[in-house]
Amino acid sequence: MKKYWKKLSRIKLTERIDNALASTVNFENSHYLGYPVSHIDENVFNLGGADLDKAPLLKAYIANPNNIGCHTLGKSEEAFKGSQELEKEVIRVLAVDIFKAEENSYDGYIANGGTEANMQALWIYRNLYKKEYNATLDEMVILSSEDTHYSVHKGANLLSVDGVSIPVEFNSREIIKEELDRIVEEQKAKGKKYFMVISNLATTMFGSVDDPNLYAQILEKHEVEYKIHIDGAFGGFIYPIMNKESKINFQNPKISSFTIDAHKMLQAPYGTGVFLCRKNLIENVLTKEAQYVDGMDLTMSGSRSGANAIAVWMILFSYGYYGWFEKISTLLLRTEWFEDQLKELNIEYFRDPFMNIVTLKSKHVTKELAQSFGLVPDTHNGNNNWYKVIVMDHVEVDDLLKFVKELKKNID
Ligand SMILES: *Cc1c(COP(=O)(O)O)cnc(C)c1O
Repeated sequence: MKKYWKKLSRIKLTERIDNALASTVNFENSHYLGYPVSHIDENVFNLGGADLDKAPLLKAYIANPNNIGCHTLGKSEEAFKGSQELEKEVIRVLAVDIFKAEENSYDGYIANGGTEANMQALWIYRNLYKKEYNATLDEMVILSSEDTHYSVHKGANLLSVDGVSIPVEFNSREIIKEELDRIVEEQKAKGKKYFMVISNLATTMFGSVDDPNLYAQILEKHEVEYKIHIDGAFGGFIYPIMNKESKINFQNPKISSFTIDAHKMLQAPYGTGVFLCRKNLIENVLTKEAQYVDGMDLTMSGSRSGANAIAVWMILFSYGYYGWFEKISTLLLRTEWFEDQLKELNIEYFRDPFMNIVTLKSKHVTKELAQSFGLVPDTHNGNNNWYKVIVMDHVEVDDLLKFVKELKKNID
């Protein structure tokens, strides 16, 4: 049972969205003279004929609320209360029902994507180390596995903090403990004292899941300061739901924050990555100069789409927890079916049992086959070792079957 993640009827959903939009300032008859905001341009987007009563999301895009700022603490812009309230409900479902946070023990917002959410985490920890320890940039370092998403390297570059990749074992994609140990030792010898870890809750290429406790164990052994951020951009809406024993959540005191993308598995519109963290962290990135915004701006983005927040809210509450569980279960059944076929054909692959990604060793797949089925290689430079298949909503067993038949031909 989930406390907040319920299924709502169509009627209820529409009613809640209508109410939310009603409390968004109506530019038609309002006296808001000082805001650089409005509904979308009617001269360009001719929406006169659209039947909006059946399309609450479209209505939200037209009303164009701005969810600027972070709404889990302090004050927020009055003009957009409705869509901000729905965003808070999204954050609560994610924090409490999916990642097992205590009530009111978290902050978060809907970022532009996983890239921004990862950067937000690094930005918070960099500032925290500066503020609490007077740390300099060259005393800090970011650790992540070699399978980590490139957004972490982008973040390292922007924040001027060194990043180090930890090697993984070729077949299991697991972080090599001895290597991690050696690297931390080496970094310490170089003067690094403050560590930021990005631990994958499923890597983009393999769906492999890092063990955050391994990082904690090694960093504690070396007696350095550390913070662990979980990058659940890909796996956040699958893994913790399917793996009931998962320890990658807020109940684990070693973990401080999460990234979860709604525009991947949840099929929300682009611009819906979610950032979540424990209380008393996000204040480290307060921009004091953001004075024209009512409330505190604690986010990397400035203006951002309130309609996007409504879209995520709609998806979560259209399915409810059980509906979503069923949907993901179906994807995993298809993935298992595919895995069984590969086993039969003696094809080597990687798969985490709670994920919908299967990554095949490229020696089993010709370039032509990969191309015609739209498989993605681990590198585009031609020397790839792997190709991945992601079982999304549109990838059915019949599609997989065609691919398996072709694979078989190659083997015979
Ligand atoms: C997709 C992805 C990201 C980046 O997310 P965007 O939403 O594209 O910015 C980060 N980390 C992982 C693991 C991802 O799969």
